[in-house]
Amino acid sequence: MTTHREPLASVLDTVGETPLVRVQASPDEVPVYAKLESFNPGASVKDRIGKYMLERMLEDGTLPEGGTIVEPTAGNTGIGFAVAAGQLGIEAVFVVPERFSVEKQQLMRALGATVINTPSEDGMGGAIDRAHAVAAETDDAVVPQQFSNPLNVEAHYATTGPEMYDALDGEVGAVVAGCGTAGTLMGIAKYALERDSDTRVVAVEPEGSLYATLEGEDVEEDAYKTEGIGTHDPATNELFDPELVDEVVQIADRDAHTEVQRLAREEGHLVASSAAAASLAARDVAERIRDGEVDAPYDSVATVFPDSGERYLSKGIYGDFESWEG
Ligand code: PMP
Repeated sequence: MTTHREPLASVLDTVGETPLVRVQASPDEVPVYAKLESFNPGASVKDRIGKYMLERMLEDGTLPEGGTIVEPTAGNTGIGFAVAAGQLGIEAVFVVPERFSVEKQQLMRALGATVINTPSEDGMGGAIDRAHAVAAETDDAVVPQQFSNPLNVEAHYATTGPEMYDALDGEVGAVVAGCGTAGTLMGIAKYALERDSDTRVVAVEPEGSLYATLEGEDVEEDAYKTEGIGTHDPATNELFDPELVDEVVQIADRDAHTEVQRLAREEGHLVASSAAAASLAARDVAERIRDGEVDAPYDSVATVFPDSGERYLSKGIYGDFESWEG
């Protein structure tokens, strides 16, 4: 891990190289290690794609110098893109369904971005359509489209995956990650399978989401409270490649909520529900590897804690389950 002892040129140089920390509740025989992505400057895993995608798009000319990005996002991607856009001289506009956390929208604005809200009932599909419409009427504007842009996967293939393997001296038995766009899991999985084609790859989603079957389109947008992972709409799961995935684990909101509290009290992690879901799924996989129920090339599991619980205080994430507004 970078110690950052030397002065750095800009905040963009602090993206990535996040700590990998052992989950204390995981089995001794098969420890789980989690990447703490709240250590990024915008405090989430999405800083990685903000920096990586904008730099690549500027390099290959997809995004003109001084141009504008218009991106549909639940929030963390907006913050990640806003941090990078500000440093790279790019204007940023984000289209966010109303229901997503108000903290995230305030942070996007604080970083100089414009936020446009779309009705919650139109889902992320509605935000995607609106982003394209706004880009069409703005000069030099492009939609990076995290939901379908292969650069999203590439960012994690180039950074998150290698960092996990470096920290664990290449001995990773399984990789486990929550899937929103699935960029994180797909990037890590591609890297992991190149290192060892037997590595177990596990996707995590809330109960009620559609990654397990990739069927059906009529799931209610508020079918679950866990924020940042899951898919209801084919427009949001284009990057997900079932061929790379051994299993999809579904986590109930109530269990994720309990794990949020446990991770804070017992392990000092101020993480949110998607990290809690990843923790539960990763611990479950570790126990099954230990018990010989599933095969893995090494006795260890690597996962990702995507962001911080602080970002969801207004939704009562640290209160009781009933009053937690997902
Ligand atoms: N957790 C949170 C809190 C997120 O905002 C996201 C991104 N939507 C994820 C997990 C999932 O990341 P990915 O889009 O790479 O699947």
